Amino acid sequence: MSSSYTAMCLSHDPGIELPTEYTGHDAALDELRQGVPGHRHCDLIVATFSGAFTVMTCPPSKDRPGGASCVHAAAEPMDAGVLRLLAAAHQSDDPAMHAAIKAGHFICWPWDRLRRLRGFLTRLTL
Ligand SMILES: [Zn+2]
Ligand SMILES: [Zn+2]
Repeated sequence: MSSSYTAMCLSHDPGIELPTEYTGHDAALDELRQGVPGHRHCDLIVATFSGAFTVMTCPPSKDRPGGASCVHAAAEPMDAGVLRLLAAAHQSDDPAMHAAIKAGHFICWPWDRLRRLRGFLTRLTL
């Protein structure tokens, strides 16, 4: 199955998908490192679409001029399915759910950032 690669800007709320398609995951990360015109100080991530399977990748923190506060040397990919569950847990009234979020160390995905993906997390289903 072929995959497609785009970037999303999470400086907007809700986040927006940028129009450029990249040739690969690493090519997309390279482009983001060099700065995307119109989004130079934005919070950008790479989205990989492969059929119903979607991965959201948070770039290495040194390659991000703006946006997210998470710190990591490598790109951090996350399955959109996990992000959907994480979004559900954030919206739960059950303190145990919030303890589970904490235990999971989802440093890239605090609620304020994750919720900006809401249009994608609902749209990108089977
Ligand atoms: Zn932007
Ligand atoms: Zn991150």
